[in-house]
Amino acid sequence: MDIFKFGGASLQSPDRIRQVANIIQQHKEEKLLVVVSAMGKTTNALEEVVALAMAKKDFTTELGAIKSYHMDQAKALNVLPSVETELLRAFEHITQLANQVGEYDFIYDQIVVYGELISSIIFAAYLKSVGLPAKWADARQYIKTNNAYREAKVNWRETEKLVGPLQHEKLLVTQGFIGSTSEGFTTTLGRDGSDFTAGIFGFCLNAKSVTIWKDVPGVMSADPKRRANAVVFEELPYKEAAEMTYFGASVIHPKTIKPLANRGIPLRVKSFIDPALPGTKIHECKVDKLPPLIVYKENQCLISCKVTDYTFVDEPQLAVIFKAISDHNVRINLMQNSAISFSFCVDYRESKIMKLIEALGQQFEVYFNTNLALITVKNYDSKTSAEFRATPGLILEQSSRSTLQVLVKGNA
Ligand code: ASP
Ligand code: MG
Repeated sequence: MDIFKFGGASLQSPDRIRQVANIIQQHKEEKLLVVVSAMGKTTNALEEVVALAMAKKDFTTELGAIKSYHMDQAKALNVLPSVETELLRAFEHITQLANQVGEYDFIYDQIVVYGELISSIIFAAYLKSVGLPAKWADARQYIKTNNAYREAKVNWRETEKLVGPLQHEKLLVTQGFIGSTSEGFTTTLGRDGSDFTAGIFGFCLNAKSVTIWKDVPGVMSADPKRRANAVVFEELPYKEAAEMTYFGASVIHPKTIKPLANRGIPLRVKSFIDPALPGTKIHECKVDKLPPLIVYKENQCLISCKVTDYTFVDEPQLAVIFKAISDHNVRINLMQNSAISFSFCVDYRESKIMKLIEALGQQFEVYFNTNLALITVKNYDSKTSAEFRATPGLILEQSSRSTLQVLVKGNA
């Protein structure tokens, strides 16, 4: 069995959905499990509905826009009659959920999941309408998680047991990003988690391969909009791909690679716009010399904790800092210490970071800078090293033998 994953951009318009259906047509001899995301920017739009609902504000306009977008998609694809009742029921549910009182993250998951549910309902109906034997499956019956809403952790043992029998299916359409707890409450795996879902199904089904279909020709050495000389990798070792995602390359969700690497399942990244292109194959391989790989991460914040009484930052103090970072569920992108201060760079998610700064402020003098960009150059050479070290507005740099990182002011 093969796993295909299609993200929001590939399902954002009727034309694109037809294009995706063509790709599936071309693979109709194979057993396929197709994972889809919400269409276009629906998840952001649903997040907005949740925010309004939780603030007890009117959300009818926002929800109405999401509804007409999906109704229009279904109409343009000529499948509205077969899905209308289900879609209307889904939007009724969303309204009910949005009027409920409950904990933010819990309500968020119960509502946001509808992006994927609705998308998969329309998409499966369309595949059927063009003669493909598509069956719709609710991923929540297979992907079992704990109850850490919005960031749920997979219960691999349960999930593998439930997913196993799906290997006999011919063409299954299911949702990325979502799961459920043992009590049956809906959970989500974290934003952009649909790639990870494809990885989970790939692992549990011991798939032949997993393909993530994107609007780029494959994994590239840099964002082509920033660097005209960016190249597409034909193949990449799992480790290299995993490290890229660690540094912030957004082409694949970071959690996707590990389960596939554990079972030696190749992961392909291919273009849904031009499926004839070879794309990138991520697998166990040796690549002699990789070109420098450049990852930009914008909207960074540099936080410095200073000891207030002129003593040095010692290990017990570092332990306090790391505990606060971990308690606030913040990930460090870069860190550096000196005698009297410890600095670290994180993604700037304002409310979360402000809470962390406040907590650290109880023991340290805390300074922070926002509006920074972190540029990572993996496998740097003398040319890229000289270029990036001379970036205007550079405030911090760090390098190992293989990786150079510079933190710069503004959005590089
Ligand atoms: N729809 C979800 C999101 O936008 C999951 C995904 O696209 O992978 O985050
Ligand atoms: Mg996405």
